[in-house]
Formats: sequence, C-alpha cells, structure tokens
Amino acid sequence: MPCDSVCITIDMDWAHDDVLRYTLDAMIRRGLLATWFVTHDTPLISELCAAGHEVGLHPNFNDLLSGDKTEGDAEDILANLLNIVPRAKCVRSHSLLQSSRLAALFVRHGFTHDANTFLPFDQLGLLSPWRGPSGLVHVSHGWEDDVFLSDVVDCPLPHEALDMDGVFVFDFHPIHYYLNPIDYDDYEICRGHLDDVTFLASHARKPGSGGVADHLNELFDKLDDRGISCTRLVDLEPVMQSR
Ligand SMILES: [Zn+2]
Repeated sequence: MPCDSVCITIDMDWAHDDVLRYTLDAMIRRGLLATWFVTHDTPLISELCAAGHEVGLHPNFNDLLSGDKTEGDAEDILANLLNIVPRAKCVRSHSLLQSSRLAALFVRHGFTHDANTFLPFDQLGLLSPWRGPSGLVHVSHGWEDDVFLSDVVDCPLPHEALDMDGVFVFDFHPIHYYLNPIDYDDYEICRGHLDDVTFLASHARKPGSGGVADHLNELFDKLDDRGISCTRLVDLEPVMQSR
C-alpha cells in the first residue's frame, strides 16, 4: 500500500528571514502545510501561523553538555522560546538531544508531541507514533536532509518513501532548501556567511544539480501528482497494535 500522507517538518536553525521566506513561499505556492520548529523570534512566525502552518519549538540544549550555562539551564532555554510561541505543543531539540528528564520538562510545559527520533525509512519503514512513559507522543522522522548530506550512510531519496505504507515524516532545513547543496562541502563554504544573502544566493547550486532542494521538489511534485495530503505533527497519534 502506498503512503497515506506526509508530515513535513522544518528546523529553522536561525536562518536569515530571506532564506526562511524562500521555503515559506514554496510551501504556499504548492499548497503544502508544515510543522516549523522555531529557534528564534522573527516576524515570519505570525505569517506561518496565518498561513495555517503548525509552529513548534527547537530548543538548543547542546551548550549544557559542555557545562556552558550562558543561556541558563534547560528550563530557562525552553522558557525563552515559549515566550515567542506560548502555545507550542511540538518540540524537537537541536541535534535531537533527548532524555527522560527533558521529556518530563516538556510535559510540565504543556507539550504533547516530541520529534526527537530519526529512524531511517529505508531500514525500518514508516513507523507510527508511540506514547512514551512521560505521556508524550513521540513522532520519528524517516528522512533528514543533513543525513543525506553527511555522506556517511547511503541515504535514499525522499520520494522513495511514498511507495511505503504509513505516514512519511521528514525533516529539512531552509538553508539547505535555499542552497541546494549536494554534500556538506557546499554548505561549509557558506557557513561563515549565513547572514549574507547575496553571498548565499551566489553559492546556491542551480536547479537540477541533484541537491537537497531538487530531491525535495521531486517529492513535492509527486505529492501533487498522487494527491497525497499533509498532516500536521500535532495531529499524529499512536496506533495501538492488537495484542
Ligand atoms: Zn537544529
């Protein structure tokens, strides 16, 4: 059986507004709705909400791992983002950092859905969400653009998931949709210039180069061809297996 629907998730990762807008414009043009994980305040958040997109939070706890508490503890980091999106129900940590203590923190702050697990669809198929011991619904994604770029694993193309049964959840970053990189070397050239959109535009790969945006656009074209709809992450619920 083919894929029922897709859940598009997008990690903002502090991208420039012009870079975010490039992705948002493509979503609007194609009639696609996504769940965006917010890293910072930007006027685009109200535009995303007005256009019907779901907005979750993308807290960065990584500095805590090296003992750096400049941004406060985990609760402070989460609270700072909740000031931007007070009603957020979905959360994905930067670098997918997770623990049972973080899960309990998310529950205490009213989150219902955690998106911190990457499970490659070519090895495991399209997995349904599950409810964890904290009460959170955990939603795994089966494809991620930076895994595709890493060159460490032989990553499938995202549209290949559409032949599988289930809901295809995938994750990408607006900077990679903008730059259309074919590998991490393309991105590394731009890493020191992420606020210089002129530089970024001049280093974006042309359409048809076989980069991240080309593969995502191929997926989006197929969604349209096959009439596959988008589901918001917050609407995904566990499917209980019969015992
Ligand atoms: Zn991130």
